[in-house]
Amino acid sequence: MVNLKKFEFWLIIGSQDLYGDKALEQVAANARVMAEDLAKDPLLPGTLVLKPVAITPSVIRRLFADANAAENCAGIITWMHTFSPSKMWIQGLAINSKPLLHLHTQFNRDIPWGSIDMDFMNLNQSAHGDREHGYIHTRMMLNRKVVAGFWKDPDVRRRIGVWMRCAAARHDGLDSVVMRFGDNMREVAVTEGDKVDAQIRFGWQVNTWGVGELARRYAEIPNGDAETLLGEYAERYEFDPAVKTSGPARNAVLEQAKIELALKSLLDAEGAGAFTTTFQDLHGLPQLPGLACQRLMEQGYGFGAEGDWKQSMLVHAAKVMASGLPGGVSFMEDYTYHLEPGKEAALGAHMLEICPSISGKKPRLEVHPLGIGGKADPARLVFDAAPGNAVLATLVDLGSRFRMIVNEVETIKINRKMHQLPVARALWKPLPNLRDSSESWIIAGGTHHSVYASALTAEYFRDWAEMCGIEYVHIGSGTKPDRLQDELRWAQGYWNSKP
Ligand code: MN
Repeated sequence: MVNLKKFEFWLIIGSQDLYGDKALEQVAANARVMAEDLAKDPLLPGTLVLKPVAITPSVIRRLFADANAAENCAGIITWMHTFSPSKMWIQGLAINSKPLLHLHTQFNRDIPWGSIDMDFMNLNQSAHGDREHGYIHTRMMLNRKVVAGFWKDPDVRRRIGVWMRCAAARHDGLDSVVMRFGDNMREVAVTEGDKVDAQIRFGWQVNTWGVGELARRYAEIPNGDAETLLGEYAERYEFDPAVKTSGPARNAVLEQAKIELALKSLLDAEGAGAFTTTFQDLHGLPQLPGLACQRLMEQGYGFGAEGDWKQSMLVHAAKVMASGLPGGVSFMEDYTYHLEPGKEAALGAHMLEICPSISGKKPRLEVHPLGIGGKADPARLVFDAAPGNAVLATLVDLGSRFRMIVNEVETIKINRKMHQLPVARALWKPLPNLRDSSESWIIAGGTHHSVYASALTAEYFRDWAEMCGIEYVHIGSGTKPDRLQDELRWAQGYWNSKP
Protein backbone atom coordinates (compact mmCIF):
# COMPACT_ATOMS: atom_id res chain seq x y z
CA MET A 1 0.00 0.00 0.00
CA VAL A 2 1.31 3.42 -0.93
CA ASN A 3 1.22 6.19 1.67
CA LEU A 4 -0.72 8.88 -0.16
CA LYS A 5 0.13 11.48 2.48
CA LYS A 6 3.57 11.83 0.90
CA PHE A 7 1.91 13.57 -2.07
CA GLU A 8 1.34 17.31 -1.59
CA PHE A 9 -1.51 19.24 -3.14
CA TRP A 10 -1.11 22.98 -3.23
CA LEU A 11 -4.23 25.02 -2.63
CA ILE A 12 -3.89 28.37 -4.40
CA ILE A 13 -6.63 30.87 -3.70
CA GLY A 14 -7.00 33.72 -6.12
CA SER A 15 -7.87 37.35 -5.51
CA GLN A 16 -6.42 40.71 -6.54
CA ASP A 17 -4.91 43.74 -4.80
CA LEU A 18 -7.88 45.99 -5.67
CA TYR A 19 -9.87 45.32 -2.51
CA GLY A 20 -7.47 46.60 0.16
CA ASP A 21 -5.71 44.83 3.02
CA LYS A 22 -8.80 44.23 5.14
CA ALA A 23 -10.61 42.27 2.47
CA LEU A 24 -7.48 40.31 1.59
CA GLU A 25 -6.96 39.44 5.27
CA GLN A 26 -10.49 38.07 5.34
CA VAL A 27 -9.82 36.01 2.21
CA ALA A 28 -6.66 34.59 3.83
CA ALA A 29 -8.51 33.85 7.08
CA ASN A 30 -11.34 32.06 5.26
CA ALA A 31 -8.75 30.13 3.24
CA ARG A 32 -7.10 28.91 6.45
CA VAL A 33 -10.41 27.73 7.92
CA MET A 34 -11.25 25.90 4.72
CA ALA A 35 -7.79 24.35 4.24
CA GLU A 36 -7.58 23.14 7.84
CA ASP A 37 -10.98 21.51 7.63
CA LEU A 38 -10.30 19.89 4.25
CA ALA A 39 -6.90 18.63 5.41
CA LYS A 40 -8.54 16.66 8.23
CA ASP A 41 -10.99 14.86 5.96
CA PRO A 42 -10.01 11.26 5.12
CA LEU A 43 -11.85 11.65 1.80
CA LEU A 44 -8.85 13.77 0.75
CA PRO A 45 -5.96 11.29 1.01
CA GLY A 46 -3.07 13.61 0.09
CA THR A 47 -1.46 16.39 2.11
CA LEU A 48 -3.13 19.73 1.45
CA VAL A 49 -0.76 22.71 1.54
CA LEU A 50 -2.26 26.19 1.64
CA LYS A 51 -0.27 28.82 -0.26
CA PRO A 52 -0.39 32.62 0.17
CA VAL A 53 -3.32 34.32 -1.56
CA ALA A 54 -2.46 34.89 -5.22
CA ILE A 55 -2.95 38.57 -6.07
CA THR A 56 -0.42 39.60 -8.73
CA PRO A 57 1.04 38.09 -11.93
CA SER A 58 4.51 37.78 -10.44
CA VAL A 59 3.27 36.08 -7.25
CA ILE A 60 1.24 33.66 -9.36
CA ARG A 61 4.09 32.86 -11.72
CA ARG A 62 6.43 32.21 -8.78
CA LEU A 63 3.88 29.91 -7.12
CA PHE A 64 3.67 27.73 -10.22
CA ALA A 65 7.46 27.79 -10.68
CA ASP A 66 7.86 26.64 -7.06
CA ALA A 67 5.24 23.92 -7.56
CA ASN A 68 7.08 22.64 -10.62
CA ALA A 69 10.29 22.41 -8.63
CA ALA A 70 8.68 20.84 -5.54
CA GLU A 71 9.50 17.13 -5.63
CA ASN A 72 6.42 16.09 -3.63
CA CYS A 73 3.88 18.42 -5.21
CA ALA A 74 1.52 16.14 -7.15
CA GLY A 75 -1.14 18.66 -8.09
CA ILE A 76 -2.58 22.15 -7.75
CA ILE A 77 -6.07 23.17 -6.66
CA THR A 78 -7.23 26.68 -7.52
CA TRP A 79 -10.25 28.58 -6.27
CA MET A 80 -11.13 32.24 -6.80
CA HIS A 81 -12.52 33.59 -3.53
CA THR A 82 -13.02 36.99 -5.17
CA PHE A 83 -12.62 38.13 -8.71
CA SER A 84 -9.05 37.47 -9.88
CA PRO A 85 -8.47 38.76 -13.41
CA SER A 86 -7.14 35.77 -15.22
CA LYS A 87 -4.63 37.50 -17.49
CA MET A 88 -2.66 37.59 -14.21
CA TRP A 89 -2.61 33.77 -14.32
CA ILE A 90 -1.32 33.27 -17.86
CA GLN A 91 2.41 33.13 -17.14
CA GLY A 92 1.91 30.80 -14.18
CA LEU A 93 -0.44 28.47 -16.01
CA ALA A 94 1.82 28.48 -19.07
CA ILE A 95 4.70 26.93 -17.12
CA ASN A 96 2.61 24.65 -14.90
CA SER A 97 3.54 20.98 -15.17
CA LYS A 98 1.28 19.65 -12.39
CA PRO A 99 -2.26 18.28 -12.66
CA LEU A 100 -4.84 21.01 -12.11
CA LEU A 101 -8.16 20.96 -10.27
CA HIS A 102 -10.36 24.00 -10.41
CA LEU A 103 -12.55 24.03 -7.31
CA HIS A 104 -15.61 26.15 -7.92
CA THR A 105 -16.96 26.76 -4.45
CA GLN A 106 -17.88 29.54 -2.02
CA PHE A 107 -16.88 30.07 1.62
CA ASN A 108 -20.46 30.58 2.81
CA ARG A 109 -23.12 28.07 1.92
CA ASP A 110 -26.11 30.39 2.18
CA ILE A 111 -26.78 33.95 1.15
CA PRO A 112 -27.02 35.97 4.41
CA TRP A 113 -30.32 37.51 3.38
CA GLY A 114 -30.68 39.95 6.27
CA SER A 115 -27.14 41.34 6.28
CA ILE A 116 -25.91 41.05 2.72
CA ASP A 117 -24.36 44.24 1.32
CA MET A 118 -21.98 45.16 -1.48
CA ASP A 119 -18.89 44.44 0.69
CA PHE A 120 -20.14 40.88 1.14
CA MET A 121 -20.85 40.63 -2.58
CA ASN A 122 -17.32 41.75 -3.46
CA LEU A 123 -15.70 39.40 -0.98
CA ASN A 124 -17.70 36.31 -1.99
CA GLN A 125 -17.86 36.40 -5.74
CA SER A 126 -16.46 33.07 -6.88
CA ALA A 127 -19.65 32.77 -8.95
CA HIS A 128 -18.06 35.23 -11.32
CA GLY A 129 -14.39 34.96 -10.33
CA ASP A 130 -14.30 31.24 -11.14
CA ARG A 131 -15.91 31.83 -14.53
CA GLU A 132 -13.13 34.27 -15.42
CA HIS A 133 -10.65 31.67 -14.15
CA GLY A 134 -12.21 28.82 -16.12
CA TYR A 135 -12.14 30.88 -19.28
CA ILE A 136 -8.36 31.17 -19.26
CA HIS A 137 -7.97 27.39 -18.75
CA THR A 138 -10.24 26.80 -21.74
CA ARG A 139 -8.57 29.51 -23.81
CA MET A 140 -5.14 27.97 -23.09
CA MET A 141 -6.53 24.46 -23.77
CA LEU A 142 -5.39 23.22 -20.36
CA ASN A 143 -6.32 19.79 -19.10
CA ARG A 144 -8.03 20.04 -15.73
CA LYS A 145 -10.89 18.79 -13.58
CA VAL A 146 -13.62 21.23 -12.56
CA VAL A 147 -15.40 20.41 -9.29
CA ALA A 148 -18.36 22.62 -8.41
CA GLY A 149 -20.29 22.72 -5.13
CA PHE A 150 -20.09 23.72 -1.47
CA TRP A 151 -16.70 22.76 -0.04
CA LYS A 152 -18.25 20.96 2.95
CA ASP A 153 -20.41 18.76 0.74
CA PRO A 154 -19.13 15.15 1.01
CA ASP A 155 -19.56 14.58 -2.73
CA VAL A 156 -17.42 17.61 -3.55
CA ARG A 157 -14.74 16.21 -1.23
CA ARG A 158 -15.09 12.72 -2.67
CA ARG A 159 -14.46 14.07 -6.18
CA ILE A 160 -11.42 16.03 -5.02
CA GLY A 161 -10.22 12.84 -3.33
CA VAL A 162 -10.62 10.84 -6.55
CA TRP A 163 -8.58 13.42 -8.42
CA MET A 164 -5.89 13.42 -5.68
CA ARG A 165 -5.55 9.65 -5.94
CA CYS A 166 -5.17 9.90 -9.72
CA ALA A 167 -2.66 12.74 -9.40
CA ALA A 168 -0.69 10.61 -6.93
CA ALA A 169 -0.63 7.78 -9.49
CA ARG A 170 0.39 10.26 -12.20
CA HIS A 171 3.19 11.62 -10.00
CA ASP A 172 4.34 8.12 -9.06
CA GLY A 173 4.39 7.21 -12.77
CA LEU A 174 6.85 10.00 -13.58
CA ASP A 175 9.56 7.97 -11.86
CA SER A 176 8.24 4.47 -12.53
CA VAL A 177 10.02 1.50 -14.03
CA VAL A 178 8.48 -1.56 -15.68
CA MET A 179 10.83 -4.54 -15.89
CA ARG A 180 10.17 -6.59 -18.97
CA PHE A 181 11.29 -10.21 -18.73
CA GLY A 182 11.22 -11.34 -22.33
CA ASP A 183 9.54 -9.54 -25.20
CA ASN A 184 5.87 -9.38 -26.14
CA MET A 185 4.23 -12.62 -27.22
CA ARG A 186 5.15 -13.37 -30.82
CA GLU A 187 2.84 -11.89 -33.49
CA VAL A 188 0.47 -10.24 -30.99
CA ALA A 189 -0.38 -6.68 -32.08
CA VAL A 190 -2.29 -5.11 -29.23
CA THR A 191 0.31 -5.67 -26.52
CA GLU A 192 2.89 -3.78 -28.62
CA GLY A 193 3.39 -0.05 -28.35
CA ASP A 194 5.74 2.88 -28.49
CA LYS A 195 7.86 2.72 -25.35
CA VAL A 196 9.50 6.05 -26.08
CA ASP A 197 6.12 7.74 -26.40
CA ALA A 198 4.99 6.05 -23.18
CA GLN A 199 7.91 7.61 -21.34
CA ILE A 200 7.23 11.03 -22.85
CA ARG A 201 3.52 10.79 -22.03
CA PHE A 202 3.43 8.93 -18.70
CA GLY A 203 7.03 9.00 -17.46
CA TRP A 204 7.13 5.22 -17.48
CA GLN A 205 10.57 3.75 -18.09
CA VAL A 206 9.85 0.57 -20.06
CA ASN A 207 13.01 -1.50 -20.28
CA THR A 208 14.11 -5.09 -20.61
CA TRP A 209 15.97 -7.44 -18.27
CA GLY A 210 17.22 -10.89 -19.20
CA VAL A 211 15.10 -13.76 -17.92
CA GLY A 212 18.47 -15.45 -17.28
CA GLU A 213 19.13 -12.90 -14.53
CA LEU A 214 15.80 -13.83 -12.95
CA ALA A 215 16.61 -17.54 -13.28
CA ARG A 216 20.02 -16.98 -11.65
CA ARG A 217 18.44 -15.18 -8.69
CA TYR A 218 15.81 -17.89 -8.48
CA ALA A 219 18.48 -20.59 -8.20
CA GLU A 220 20.23 -18.67 -5.42
CA ILE A 221 17.19 -18.33 -3.12
CA PRO A 222 17.81 -20.51 -0.03
CA ASN A 223 15.27 -23.28 0.64
CA GLY A 224 14.68 -21.84 4.10
CA ASP A 225 13.49 -18.52 2.66
CA ALA A 226 10.94 -20.33 0.49
CA GLU A 227 9.76 -22.37 3.52
CA THR A 228 9.31 -19.16 5.53
CA LEU A 229 7.23 -17.62 2.75
CA LEU A 230 5.16 -20.80 2.59
CA GLY A 231 4.31 -20.16 6.24
CA GLU A 232 2.89 -16.78 5.21
CA TYR A 233 0.88 -18.45 2.45
CA ALA A 234 -0.58 -20.85 5.03
CA GLU A 235 -1.87 -17.90 7.05
CA ARG A 236 -3.42 -16.12 4.10
CA TYR A 237 -4.71 -18.90 1.85
CA GLU A 238 -6.52 -22.19 2.05
CA PHE A 239 -4.26 -25.08 0.98
CA ASP A 240 -5.33 -27.84 -1.37
CA PRO A 241 -4.71 -31.20 0.42
CA ALA A 242 -1.91 -32.03 -2.06
CA VAL A 243 -0.06 -28.86 -1.00
CA LYS A 244 -0.33 -29.63 2.72
CA THR A 245 1.99 -32.63 2.64
CA SER A 246 5.41 -33.04 1.08
CA GLY A 247 5.43 -34.10 -2.53
CA PRO A 248 5.42 -32.63 -6.04
CA ALA A 249 2.60 -30.14 -5.39
CA ARG A 250 4.25 -28.68 -2.30
CA ASN A 251 7.55 -28.52 -4.16
CA ALA A 252 5.82 -26.61 -6.95
CA VAL A 253 4.60 -24.05 -4.40
CA LEU A 254 8.12 -23.74 -2.97
CA GLU A 255 9.42 -23.11 -6.50
CA GLN A 256 6.85 -20.32 -6.97
CA ALA A 257 7.88 -18.90 -3.59
CA LYS A 258 11.45 -18.73 -4.86
CA ILE A 259 10.28 -17.07 -8.09
CA GLU A 260 8.36 -14.52 -6.00
CA LEU A 261 11.42 -13.74 -3.88
CA ALA A 262 13.71 -13.54 -6.92
CA LEU A 263 11.29 -11.27 -8.79
CA LYS A 264 10.78 -9.03 -5.78
CA SER A 265 14.51 -8.64 -5.16
CA LEU A 266 15.08 -7.64 -8.78
CA LEU A 267 12.10 -5.24 -8.82
CA ASP A 268 13.19 -3.59 -5.60
CA ALA A 269 16.84 -3.36 -6.68
CA GLU A 270 15.72 -1.36 -9.74
CA GLY A 271 12.97 0.58 -7.96
CA ALA A 272 10.47 -0.98 -10.38
CA GLY A 273 6.74 -0.82 -9.66
CA ALA A 274 5.67 -3.21 -12.42
CA PHE A 275 6.86 -6.13 -14.55
CA THR A 276 5.92 -8.41 -17.40
CA THR A 277 6.58 -12.05 -18.17
CA THR A 278 5.96 -14.20 -21.22
CA PHE A 279 5.45 -17.94 -21.39
CA GLN A 280 7.58 -17.95 -24.55
CA ASP A 281 10.69 -16.93 -22.65
CA LEU A 282 11.12 -18.82 -19.38
CA HIS A 283 14.57 -20.25 -19.94
CA GLY A 284 15.98 -21.42 -16.61
CA LEU A 285 12.69 -21.12 -14.69
CA PRO A 286 10.89 -24.34 -13.79
CA GLN A 287 7.31 -22.99 -14.11
CA LEU A 288 5.42 -20.11 -15.60
CA PRO A 289 5.27 -17.56 -12.75
CA GLY A 290 1.67 -17.89 -11.56
CA LEU A 291 1.35 -17.66 -7.81
CA ALA A 292 4.41 -15.36 -7.83
CA CYS A 293 2.65 -12.83 -10.10
CA GLN A 294 -0.55 -13.05 -8.07
CA ARG A 295 1.36 -12.43 -4.86
CA LEU A 296 3.32 -9.48 -6.23
CA MET A 297 0.16 -7.85 -7.57
CA GLU A 298 -1.34 -8.29 -4.11
CA GLN A 299 1.65 -6.33 -2.78
CA GLY A 300 1.01 -3.45 -5.19
CA TYR A 301 3.24 -4.27 -8.16
CA GLY A 302 1.81 -3.96 -11.65
CA PHE A 303 1.77 -7.05 -13.80
CA GLY A 304 1.15 -7.75 -17.49
CA ALA A 305 1.22 -11.18 -19.12
CA GLU A 306 2.70 -11.96 -22.54
CA GLY A 307 4.86 -8.84 -22.33
CA ASP A 308 1.90 -6.48 -21.96
CA TRP A 309 3.79 -3.58 -20.37
CA LYS A 310 0.99 -1.05 -20.93
CA GLN A 311 -1.50 -2.95 -18.80
CA SER A 312 1.24 -3.74 -16.28
CA MET A 313 1.92 -0.06 -15.72
CA LEU A 314 -1.79 0.66 -15.63
CA VAL A 315 -2.29 -2.05 -12.97
CA HIS A 316 0.38 -0.34 -10.90
CA ALA A 317 -1.13 3.12 -11.43
CA ALA A 318 -4.55 1.77 -10.41
CA LYS A 319 -2.99 0.17 -7.33
CA VAL A 320 -1.68 3.60 -6.30
CA MET A 321 -5.12 5.18 -6.89
CA ALA A 322 -6.83 2.42 -4.88
CA SER A 323 -4.41 2.51 -1.96
CA GLY A 324 -6.35 1.93 1.26
CA LEU A 325 -9.73 1.61 -0.48
CA PRO A 326 -11.98 -1.46 -0.13
CA GLY A 327 -11.97 -3.80 -3.13
CA GLY A 328 -9.09 -4.72 -5.38
CA VAL A 329 -7.23 -4.22 -8.65
CA SER A 330 -5.99 -6.94 -10.97
CA PHE A 331 -4.63 -7.72 -14.40
CA MET A 332 -7.52 -9.31 -16.34
CA GLU A 333 -8.41 -10.89 -19.65
CA ASP A 334 -11.74 -11.36 -21.40
CA TYR A 335 -11.77 -15.11 -21.84
CA THR A 336 -15.09 -16.62 -22.80
CA TYR A 337 -18.81 -15.71 -22.95
CA HIS A 338 -22.09 -17.07 -21.66
CA LEU A 339 -24.60 -16.21 -24.40
CA GLU A 340 -27.82 -17.62 -22.93
CA PRO A 341 -30.52 -15.07 -23.83
CA GLY A 342 -31.20 -12.72 -20.92
CA LYS A 343 -28.26 -14.02 -18.90
CA GLU A 344 -25.37 -12.90 -21.09
CA ALA A 345 -22.11 -12.53 -19.21
CA ALA A 346 -18.36 -12.59 -19.74
CA LEU A 347 -15.97 -14.86 -17.89
CA GLY A 348 -12.67 -13.15 -17.23
CA ALA A 349 -9.54 -14.94 -16.11
CA HIS A 350 -5.99 -15.53 -17.23
CA MET A 351 -3.87 -18.62 -17.48
CA LEU A 352 -2.96 -18.03 -13.82
CA GLU A 353 -2.20 -14.43 -13.03
CA ILE A 354 -5.19 -12.75 -11.34
CA CYS A 355 -4.69 -10.68 -8.19
CA PRO A 356 -6.27 -12.08 -4.99
CA SER A 357 -7.23 -8.53 -3.92
CA ILE A 358 -10.42 -8.93 -5.99
CA SER A 359 -11.36 -12.25 -4.39
CA GLY A 360 -14.64 -12.68 -2.55
CA LYS A 361 -13.15 -15.05 0.03
CA LYS A 362 -9.96 -16.79 1.07
CA PRO A 363 -8.17 -17.97 -2.12
CA ARG A 364 -7.21 -21.59 -2.44
CA LEU A 365 -3.64 -22.62 -3.29
CA GLU A 366 -3.54 -25.42 -5.88
CA VAL A 367 -1.12 -27.00 -8.36
CA HIS A 368 -2.22 -28.22 -11.78
CA PRO A 369 -0.75 -28.81 -15.22
CA LEU A 370 -0.80 -25.97 -17.73
CA GLY A 371 -1.25 -26.88 -21.37
CA ILE A 372 0.88 -24.01 -22.66
CA GLY A 373 4.53 -23.08 -22.29
CA GLY A 374 5.91 -26.60 -21.89
CA LYS A 375 6.98 -26.15 -18.28
CA ALA A 376 6.27 -27.90 -14.95
CA ASP A 377 2.84 -27.71 -13.28
CA PRO A 378 2.50 -24.22 -11.83
CA ALA A 379 1.09 -23.29 -8.43
CA ARG A 380 -1.71 -20.74 -8.45
CA LEU A 381 -4.40 -19.20 -6.24
CA VAL A 382 -7.94 -20.14 -7.25
CA PHE A 383 -10.95 -17.98 -6.35
CA ASP A 384 -14.05 -16.22 -7.67
CA ALA A 385 -14.02 -12.42 -7.79
CA ALA A 386 -16.31 -10.74 -5.28
CA PRO A 387 -19.69 -9.68 -6.74
CA GLY A 388 -20.36 -5.96 -7.09
CA ASN A 389 -19.59 -3.00 -9.33
CA ALA A 390 -16.25 -2.85 -11.07
CA VAL A 391 -14.59 -1.34 -14.13
CA LEU A 392 -12.38 -2.70 -16.87
CA ALA A 393 -9.79 -0.25 -18.16
CA THR A 394 -7.30 -0.68 -20.94
CA LEU A 395 -4.68 1.35 -22.72
CA VAL A 396 -4.04 0.91 -26.44
CA ASP A 397 -1.46 2.50 -28.71
CA LEU A 398 -3.14 3.68 -31.91
CA GLY A 399 0.16 4.51 -33.57
CA SER A 400 -0.16 8.27 -33.21
CA ARG A 401 -1.56 8.39 -29.66
CA PHE A 402 -2.68 6.39 -26.63
CA ARG A 403 -6.35 5.71 -26.02
CA MET A 404 -7.87 4.62 -22.73
CA ILE A 405 -11.08 2.60 -22.84
CA VAL A 406 -13.15 1.97 -19.73
CA ASN A 407 -16.20 -0.25 -19.38
CA GLU A 408 -18.40 -0.37 -16.31
CA VAL A 409 -19.34 -3.91 -15.32
CA GLU A 410 -21.41 -5.64 -12.69
CA THR A 411 -19.61 -8.68 -11.34
CA ILE A 412 -22.01 -11.45 -10.42
CA LYS A 413 -21.86 -14.51 -8.24
CA ILE A 414 -20.78 -17.71 -9.99
CA ASN A 415 -23.48 -20.16 -9.05
CA ARG A 416 -22.17 -23.19 -10.91
CA LYS A 417 -19.18 -25.31 -9.95
CA MET A 418 -16.35 -25.43 -12.48
CA HIS A 419 -14.42 -28.48 -11.27
CA GLN A 420 -12.21 -28.62 -14.33
CA LEU A 421 -11.15 -24.95 -14.28
CA PRO A 422 -8.58 -24.35 -11.52
CA VAL A 423 -7.91 -20.66 -12.15
CA ALA A 424 -9.01 -17.41 -10.55
CA ARG A 425 -11.93 -15.90 -12.44
CA ALA A 426 -14.55 -13.17 -12.51
CA LEU A 427 -18.00 -13.33 -14.11
CA TRP A 428 -19.48 -9.99 -15.11
CA LYS A 429 -22.33 -8.37 -16.97
CA PRO A 430 -20.85 -5.42 -18.81
CA LEU A 431 -22.85 -2.20 -19.19
CA PRO A 432 -25.00 -1.43 -21.07
CA ASN A 433 -25.23 -5.13 -22.04
CA LEU A 434 -22.84 -7.72 -23.41
CA ARG A 435 -23.66 -7.05 -27.07
CA ASP A 436 -23.36 -3.24 -27.00
CA SER A 437 -20.39 -3.34 -24.64
CA SER A 438 -18.38 -5.76 -26.73
CA GLU A 439 -19.28 -4.01 -30.01
CA SER A 440 -18.23 -0.66 -28.49
CA TRP A 441 -15.03 -2.06 -27.00
CA ILE A 442 -14.05 -3.67 -30.30
CA ILE A 443 -14.91 -0.54 -32.34
CA ALA A 444 -12.65 1.44 -29.99
CA GLY A 445 -9.82 -1.05 -30.52
CA GLY A 446 -9.80 -2.33 -26.94
CA THR A 447 -7.49 -5.19 -25.97
CA HIS A 448 -8.33 -8.59 -24.57
CA HIS A 449 -6.10 -7.60 -21.63
CA SER A 450 -7.28 -5.00 -19.14
CA VAL A 451 -7.13 -3.74 -15.60
CA TYR A 452 -10.04 -4.97 -13.51
CA ALA A 453 -10.78 -2.67 -10.58
CA SER A 454 -13.50 -3.25 -8.01
CA ALA A 455 -11.89 -0.57 -5.81
CA LEU A 456 -12.28 2.17 -8.44
CA THR A 457 -14.89 3.75 -10.70
CA ALA A 458 -14.66 5.11 -14.23
CA GLU A 459 -14.16 8.61 -12.78
CA TYR A 460 -10.64 7.66 -11.65
CA PHE A 461 -9.52 6.57 -15.09
CA ARG A 462 -11.12 9.59 -16.70
CA ASP A 463 -9.27 11.94 -14.32
CA TRP A 464 -6.01 10.11 -14.89
CA ALA A 465 -6.40 10.17 -18.70
CA GLU A 466 -7.18 13.90 -18.52
CA MET A 467 -4.05 14.68 -16.54
CA CYS A 468 -1.93 12.52 -18.87
CA GLY A 469 -3.47 14.27 -21.88
CA ILE A 470 -4.69 11.10 -23.59
CA GLU A 471 -7.96 10.08 -25.18
CA TYR A 472 -10.62 8.60 -22.90
CA VAL A 473 -13.46 6.41 -24.14
CA HIS A 474 -16.24 5.48 -21.75
CA ILE A 475 -18.61 2.53 -22.17
CA GLY A 476 -21.47 2.56 -19.67
CA SER A 477 -25.22 2.38 -19.28
CA GLY A 478 -25.95 4.98 -21.98
CA THR A 479 -23.49 3.81 -24.63
CA LYS A 480 -24.73 3.10 -28.15
CA PRO A 481 -22.12 1.50 -30.45
CA ASP A 482 -23.24 3.40 -33.58
CA ARG A 483 -23.06 6.72 -31.78
CA LEU A 484 -19.71 5.81 -30.26
CA GLN A 485 -18.31 4.97 -33.67
CA ASP A 486 -19.30 8.44 -34.91
CA GLU A 487 -17.81 10.10 -31.83
CA LEU A 488 -14.53 8.26 -32.28
CA ARG A 489 -14.36 9.48 -35.88
CA TRP A 490 -15.03 13.07 -34.83
CA ALA A 491 -12.44 12.76 -32.10
CA GLN A 492 -9.89 11.69 -34.70
CA GLY A 493 -10.05 15.25 -36.05
CA TYR A 494 -9.48 16.69 -32.58
CA TRP A 495 -6.46 14.50 -31.86
CA ASN A 496 -4.95 15.05 -35.30
CA SER A 497 -5.17 18.82 -34.79
CA LYS A 498 -3.55 18.85 -31.36
CA PRO A 499 -0.13 20.55 -31.29
MN1 MN B 1 -3.14 -13.03 -22.07
